[in-house]
Amino acid sequence: MGDIALLSPVFEEIKRAHPTCRVSCLVKGIYADLVSRHPALDEVIVFQGFWKTLRLLRQRQWDAVIDLHGVLRTRLIAFFLPARWKTTYKKEDVLKRWGMVFLNKTGPAPHTIDRYRTALAVLGIGLNKIVVLQTAFLGDAVLTLPLLKLIQERLGPERLSVVTRPEHAPVFERESFEVIKDDKRAKDSGWSGFWRLVNVLRSGSYDAVLVPHRSLRSAAMAWFAGIPIRAGFFSSAGWFFFNRRVPFVWSEHDADRNMRLLETFPSKGSNQNFPNSPRPVKRGEDKGEGFEGQTPHPALSPLAQGEGKKIFGVESGDLTPLRLWRSFGADTEKEFLIGMAPGSKWPTKRWPVQHFAETAGRLLDTHVNGRIVLTGGPEDKELCAQTAVLLGSKTINTAGRVGLGDLPGLMSQLRLFVTNDSGPMHIASGLGVPTVAVFGPTVRGFGFFPKGPDSRVVEIEDLACRPCSLHGGKHCPRGHFLCMRLITPDRVIDACENVLKHENSPVA
Ligand code: SF4
Repeated sequence: MGDIALLSPVFEEIKRAHPTCRVSCLVKGIYADLVSRHPALDEVIVFQGFWKTLRLLRQRQWDAVIDLHGVLRTRLIAFFLPARWKTTYKKEDVLKRWGMVFLNKTGPAPHTIDRYRTALAVLGIGLNKIVVLQTAFLGDAVLTLPLLKLIQERLGPERLSVVTRPEHAPVFERESFEVIKDDKRAKDSGWSGFWRLVNVLRSGSYDAVLVPHRSLRSAAMAWFAGIPIRAGFFSSAGWFFFNRRVPFVWSEHDADRNMRLLETFPSKGSNQNFPNSPRPVKRGEDKGEGFEGQTPHPALSPLAQGEGKKIFGVESGDLTPLRLWRSFGADTEKEFLIGMAPGSKWPTKRWPVQHFAETAGRLLDTHVNGRIVLTGGPEDKELCAQTAVLLGSKTINTAGRVGLGDLPGLMSQLRLFVTNDSGPMHIASGLGVPTVAVFGPTVRGFGFFPKGPDSRVVEIEDLACRPCSLHGGKHCPRGHFLCMRLITPDRVIDACENVLKHENSPVA
């Protein structure tokens, strides 16, 4: 009876988080009266023997089944009920408890109510501490921002952290997310670094972890950290470490598919995603027909809905970007600033600098008040310096002089951006800056492409060797590098003029 009486706050919390949902409770007949008058409960279903009750319950469509008894009989009922979200509350492990008594390490056992609350996490309730693991490349980090914003909006955790590489920390710090640095290429490489991160996550007592990065290391880290809810992709190398999985739809934009991880959580405080939630993509549906073959969920795609400035933390009244531009001697009002990013981590993703220089020169012929702004990180300094020499005057070389935290604000003032397939491409197109991207060994079908009506991709579509690698490589495996060499400045300039006229075609 005590357990039944403790259900009262459970009903209240469910109703508070999902006011429009209908709450039904299955109890033995002797307890029906005890719960039937609860204002947050819509229906009492009396247990009538295993098979009869199961038949009765299976006649209905349930969104969620929460087993707060946790015995074999209720576990079997829950197992046979079709429902999108299922959970069983965790009883105290008696053996573990006795072991702790034996070792004289006992502390107060969690109250039943607290354990009930933990089970409610399946409905997005009580998810106060959430962490996202994203230790891939800059583009991946940038495209994780919409997911973080959506988590804030839908689940409203008290603490939202992100594990990322130290060099990508400014992307998240600018937005005031708590950053945990994983220097996996240096001091955190190997087992000692792995366990250091596991211990940091353990001490954070996170309620849930979302893992857009598909590496075995990230998935294992989530599991070893003992985080109860672990959401990741079916196609992750460590998919078996997750207890919530969504398909990785190749043809979908990376920002959208990252946000699919949230489909495993109902929204808190609204009925937008619960109980009338969108149908999740199922395993086996994850092989899209191609770029046009999939329609992202309409609630997603904020980068395509002009939300980029919000996502990248660019405030309209913020004077910092203008001050930065002034420090470079540029006038954003009078000058037509054309950004160019000739760098990329992978040499095969770099369009030749001579082509960039020719394109720049011809754009300046057309836009007489134009000025070329070369952008890049410290690793691109040399390449940008070479390009700047080819361009001559009317060039500002910002490579290595602007941190990632300031980059979105600075880029928001550009009138046009010409780039390789790289991280800044996602920032520019997300901000709504007309963007022309040159694609060589990679294709849009990987999900990393500039998004929005004012973006274009220039590529050689019918080259048989494309794509040759997911990220691009150091050398062309065929030795001819035709994927980039065949793209002429003429084509890129045409795409630039089209995008500036807002002509509506994603491919040039
Ligand atoms: S193999 Fe083809 S796609 Fe790959 S780098 Fe060479 S030319 Fe480009």
